[in-house]
Amino acid sequence: MKRRSVILALAVILLLTLTSFAQERADRFEQIFDASQDAGRLTARFLQLITRMDEKSGDSTILTSPDGKVMVIDGGNPSTFEDVDRALKALGITRIDYLVASHPHVDHVGSFAQLIYNYEIGAVYTSELEYTTSHYRNYMEAIENTKTPHIILAEGDSFMFGQHVKVEILHPPAGIEYPANYPQGATQFINNRSLVMKMTFKDSSFLFTGDVYVAAERDIIGRYGDKLKADVLKVPHHGDSTSSSKSFRDAVSPKVAVMMHDAIADLRIFQNYSKAGAQTFVTSVDGAVLVSTAGDGEYTIITQFDRVTDFLN
Ligand SMILES: [Zn+2]
Repeated sequence: MKRRSVILALAVILLLTLTSFAQERADRFEQIFDASQDAGRLTARFLQLITRMDEKSGDSTILTSPDGKVMVIDGGNPSTFEDVDRALKALGITRIDYLVASHPHVDHVGSFAQLIYNYEIGAVYTSELEYTTSHYRNYMEAIENTKTPHIILAEGDSFMFGQHVKVEILHPPAGIEYPANYPQGATQFINNRSLVMKMTFKDSSFLFTGDVYVAAERDIIGRYGDKLKADVLKVPHHGDSTSSSKSFRDAVSPKVAVMMHDAIADLRIFQNYSKAGAQTFVTSVDGAVLVSTAGDGEYTIITQFDRVTDFLN
């Protein structure tokens, strides 16, 4: 009898612990990946990718247009396919109309072969930049095997994402010249040739920047100046201090800045955006982040997790 009441007491303690833990960390995954709120709106869902190997997990954003088209920009490391797949399934998505690679590094295109084999793909969009790694060859092979259209983009190109959203390519310019021993030691070269895309829906705008560094930011500011201004910014290079120069932050002057990372690359970068008045998020702390607009310059934002710390501010 005595033993049984000890077990009972332990069970009660365990239950209370679990309940209070659950209350502490509300998880709004289902709310974020509920597609019923999407009609008539442009919605970006910045995914929290989980690190399962040593590398950083990478970037992946799922966008839905007001008329229901689907775009995926980047797809994390190969092991994060399960995160991207889970998010797409929760949204009820079986077809990706636009699968976009910002640049061919593994933390951006790692899951592309799996996406191409497992989903119906409208077309794959990339820059002309070619690479030699196995994951790059895998997804190029997947494009060939499935006869998926492959569209090459360069600065000056534009296309419609559905009927209402305009996408403009601001970078890189056509005619990439490779260094002599490419791709040896080419990390910076490749990152600086990420696709930079501006997306406009009536009075709302988003800027996607891949992993550009300060050098490319300077080029883009030189060519586009005020046109870089965008309400919502996918912060370049996971929020690292290789990027997000003051002149870039000033040119974009975002209302919302989102960095996708499994850590905090540089707290100062986070604070720079935050101090300039942007609502600033990082997926390692906030989980997945939904940013949605009816095209009126107003944004609904939902984060997967509540902040349990204020060290970011
Ligand atoms: Zn990256």
